[in-house]
Amino acid sequence: MALVAIVGRPNVGKSTLFNRLTEERRAIVDDQPGVTRDRLFGEVEWTGRTFDLVDTGGLVPRSAERFDAAIREQVVLTLGEADVILFVVDTLTGTTEPDQEVAKMLRRAEQPVIVVANKADTEGRKNDAAEFWGLGFDQMFPLSSVNGTGTGDFLDAVVAAL
Ligand code: GDP
Ligand code: MG
Repeated sequence: MALVAIVGRPNVGKSTLFNRLTEERRAIVDDQPGVTRDRLFGEVEWTGRTFDLVDTGGLVPRSAERFDAAIREQVVLTLGEADVILFVVDTLTGTTEPDQEVAKMLRRAEQPVIVVANKADTEGRKNDAAEFWGLGFDQMFPLSSVNGTGTGDFLDAVVAAL
């Protein structure tokens, strides 16, 4: 089955997007009571098409906001394994230097790269997302992983890219 990978710097909403797309509202509970852990792999079904989804943010140790070895490692994993790459950015912060660094690496990708302008909860932020065309990719979708706005058009594009 096709593998779709979510990549991006910390706090842009990768895990929240993953949970919305996999419709997994409940975190997996570890053996130890009270300990929850982010799920990293899931299956997504949309208009009769199914794909595997991975949240690469959880595959490498979480670290600071800057572009560092952990984010680089995410991108390297993604470039090696994914059929489609979801590059998540944040409409609240706009483009940051770590986003630029990720973009630079992903521009060399052979796979389709879809920019996800997350946290576009309102019309205003949806409009702000236009700046992310500047990252240099062919596809960019403003959406909200929290309220679900924009996820339909985005998923149409993902399954079209499989
Ligand atoms: P990750 O580090 O990229 O996995 O980011 P998380 O999924 O942990 O989210 C980081 C923060 O952004 C959390 O406080 C989320 O609730 C918040 N967040 C994620 N998606 C959205 C969204 O669509 N809208 C808003 N307003 N906040 C969001
Ligand atoms: Mg996360």
